[in-house]
Amino acid sequence: MTQTDFTHDANATSWVEGADGHPNFPVQNLPLGVFGPPDGSTPRGGIAIGDFILDVSALAGRLDGVAADAARATGAPMLNILFAAGREPVHQLRQGVFRLLTDESQREVVTPHLHQAADCTLHVPFMVGDYTDFYTGIHHAMNIGSLFRPDNPLLPNYKYVPIGYHGRSSSIRVSGVDVKRPTGQTKPGDDGAAPPFGPSKRLDYELEMAIWVGQGNALGEPIPVGEAEEHIAGISILNDWSARDLQAWEYQPLGPFLAKNFHSSVSPWVVTMDALAPFRTAQPPRPEGDPAPLPYLMDQNDQAAGAFGITMEVLITTPKMREANDAPHRLSKGPMTAMYWTAAQLIAHHSVGGCNLQPGDLLGTGTLTSGEEGGEGSLIELTEGGKKTITLPNGEERKFLEDGDEIIMTAYAEKDGFARIGLGECRAIIRG
Ligand code: MN
Repeated sequence: MTQTDFTHDANATSWVEGADGHPNFPVQNLPLGVFGPPDGSTPRGGIAIGDFILDVSALAGRLDGVAADAARATGAPMLNILFAAGREPVHQLRQGVFRLLTDESQREVVTPHLHQAADCTLHVPFMVGDYTDFYTGIHHAMNIGSLFRPDNPLLPNYKYVPIGYHGRSSSIRVSGVDVKRPTGQTKPGDDGAAPPFGPSKRLDYELEMAIWVGQGNALGEPIPVGEAEEHIAGISILNDWSARDLQAWEYQPLGPFLAKNFHSSVSPWVVTMDALAPFRTAQPPRPEGDPAPLPYLMDQNDQAAGAFGITMEVLITTPKMREANDAPHRLSKGPMTAMYWTAAQLIAHHSVGGCNLQPGDLLGTGTLTSGEEGGEGSLIELTEGGKKTITLPNGEERKFLEDGDEIIMTAYAEKDGFARIGLGECRAIIRG
């Protein structure tokens, strides 16, 4: 696991106005993303600091050696090139940028390369070649399984195999891009009639985290679980929008298809494994009686510190709430430790048959439901399959999402002795 160093010092301060104590992006975070500057020039890599974005490649001349090369690699309109070279260049870049942003004497030369984030356009940070969605949230798997198979909610493979499916990368969009309600077939009644066709009536969100692959592996050469961390670039927030009525009709026997492929939203900032070092935590022990993972999925260091001490939240606003300037209403809150498998286990399993992962591949954790009330990661769980109604503070009611509704997901890490860091937001409005 990554060690902490001077870049994690809670007492470090930055000369960038508003950065110290920023809920998401103090100088201890320094997440990477791709931004378009206000002047309309080509999108390129940037680092979030407070309410600003640092144009990293423009500062290559202020950095040395590996860090300078890494800064130049962020000049591309995607982060694939930077992260393809592994963890070390990103580590050096973090240390170099941290020094520039904490050293008052650098203020004058660096300031021209800071842009107000509000004036910039943010993009999906990687060119995503492949997107795989896992199903690691065991409480979610139990809840969904109970709805569809009350007698047998969790299939026997679940505790041996990190279940996943190959998703669709072309429809991944950055936070803020509207989601068009999908149209499709839904389950017919028992009268033998043809399936109804039309706009989804059971549109849902899924609270997930995105694990970004950094350095890849060659075809036929699996990544051992003990080395998997070296292949992770960092994490973002992922909303795996799901049309439950389409899903119920199409998903057997081969799993999700059109119910999931119309749009997935991702937050713009990649919080690196370096930034997350203080917040790594033990994988929660498996419940009594659960089998141990097979040896290729088992690593003591990974079990000791392979989970993420991150808290996630889902909020909603409706058009009426926004008109009235009402605060977003929180639908759920829970920890990322709801994963039954660690990120390293997902990487090891994904590649064990020889599949080659590539820089910028996106691995979704699956919906992370905490197992406690208020920790449900989707509406289908909150409303028990649409049987219950959610009443919002202004009296509006919901079972699933309506046109104009906005879902906002946030995530952050807090720990005594360290500065709080956040992942920012993943938000989008539903359009009919
Ligand atoms: Mn999902």
